[in-house]
Amino acid sequence: MNGKSFFVDLTLCTACRGCQVACKQWKDLPAERTHNFGSHQNPADLSHQTIRLVRFKEARDAQGKLRWYFFPEQCRHCIEPPCKYMLNMYKSAVVYNEEVRLAKNVDLDPQMICPYNVPRKDAATGHWRKCDMCIDRVKDGLKPACVTSCPTGTMNFGDREAMLEMAQNRLTEVKKTRPNAFLADPEDVRVIYLCDTDAENYHTHMVADTGQRSAILAQARPAKQSRREFLTGRFNFGKSRV
Ligand code: SF4
Ligand code: SF4
Ligand code: SF4
Repeated sequence: MNGKSFFVDLTLCTACRGCQVACKQWKDLPAERTHNFGSHQNPADLSHQTIRLVRFKEARDAQGKLRWYFFPEQCRHCIEPPCKYMLNMYKSAVVYNEEVRLAKNVDLDPQMICPYNVPRKDAATGHWRKCDMCIDRVKDGLKPACVTSCPTGTMNFGDREAMLEMAQNRLTEVKKTRPNAFLADPEDVRVIYLCDTDAENYHTHMVADTGQRSAILAQARPAKQSRREFLTGRFNFGKSRV
């Protein structure tokens, strides 16, 4: 399988948030008004203005000690993206552009279109937004802004085969001291996280609910129904809108 991928080594992340800031800067996304909700994490969730978020979670490790777990979250760039059927737009990376208007006036929960609960809608414009793999940089031979800004080696980006090999090698190394380490859904996504503890210690949606993924795909595109037919019926739009 070709194309590009990320390898994100969570054992190295210090939650410096350089990647979160770099993403906002490159994408020209504004700051948000936030409030203290009892965590160093800020803001509290992804939004159409914060498409990359370093999550903080305190949980117990295998020895029962409380530990911070850091999770720089972004769109996983699924190999077969359920959202592409629901929002009608993707390129080589899963990219939403101005044509992503089909769900504009439909009140969809992000979990209905994404097994990782990632995309967010701008209530003012109705447009959905998420990470686009910095496709504007990648097509010019640059790495994504979040990768370039990461000082610890957590963020890596390159040809998929190289990233899978790097992930596997690093997993083998980490498992020597942390036997519960695993790669999150490496066959299904282009953003491969190396975790050293249970997935829920990082975040509820660290790994996809495979049943949910199948359900979204099945609902999104039933057999014998074309994408055009599906979208016309799903959002109750006239054929001229599709
Ligand atoms: Fe789409 Fe969600 Fe997969 Fe990203 S993670 S490609 S938003 S389904
Ligand atoms: Fe943001 Fe680009 Fe990184 Fe995606 S690839 S999270 S858009 S900086
Ligand atoms: Fe973690 Fe790197 Fe992001 Fe800092 S820049 S929060 S080390 S992924």
